[in-house]
Amino acid sequence: MLTIDLIPCLSDNYAYLLRDDQGAVGVVDPSEPGPVQAVLERLGLKLTHIFNTHHHFDHTGGNLDLKAAHGATVIGPRADAHRIPGIDIGVGEGDRVGFGALEAEIYEIPAHTSGHIAFHFLADKAVFTGDTLFAMGCGRLFEGTPADMFAAMIKLAALPGDTRVYCGHEYTESNGRFALTVEPDNTDLMTRMADVRRMRAAGLPTIPSTIALERATNPFMRARDAAELGERRAAKDAFR
Ligand code: ZN
Ligand code: FE
Repeated sequence: MLTIDLIPCLSDNYAYLLRDDQGAVGVVDPSEPGPVQAVLERLGLKLTHIFNTHHHFDHTGGNLDLKAAHGATVIGPRADAHRIPGIDIGVGEGDRVGFGALEAEIYEIPAHTSGHIAFHFLADKAVFTGDTLFAMGCGRLFEGTPADMFAAMIKLAALPGDTRVYCGHEYTESNGRFALTVEPDNTDLMTRMADVRRMRAAGLPTIPSTIALERATNPFMRARDAAELGERRAAKDAFR
């Protein structure tokens, strides 16, 4: 069984602490070493794996210090190996990565960055989507096209509905406000936003989401085609 704990980093990033039952200890997208190291020390854990969804500094900034402190193996996108600090194992579409007794399947979901990947822990129904799929949103198109992001959304939407979605940032409330401008009559969206506002007002994280919830409320996953996704992404870039 996979145990997942959120580790807030920087201003709105989430790193995720992963544990299996047999001593494997991983972190997904360590933005910075400090908060991750503090959690590891408090729990008396030695880090064995570092997983990176993409090369941006707010997802890899803790790699080198944590690797030096623990000797952890760094696993990231093969296509971006040259810009993932300390990478040991490069992975791509369809690869399986072992984590203790568990296994994650890799999906290539380029668009935010050209090498972006997701880690899907199959038996535990958890997918780590970095800055590609957010709760009610998607990442900016820094190194890809609307067609790339549309393909990534189709790939992720095909996962089982009860798959939990762990993304890279707490952008949910802002994403939801934008989503309501796109689909003001979507009742699933209205219900979800009421929940999200309550959680944020209480200082709680809105993560994880689920694939079913994203299918029902995410304007990028719900786009009819790449052109519509592109229009929505451009509108979101200008949205305040
Ligand atoms: Zn990013
Ligand atoms: Fe990011």
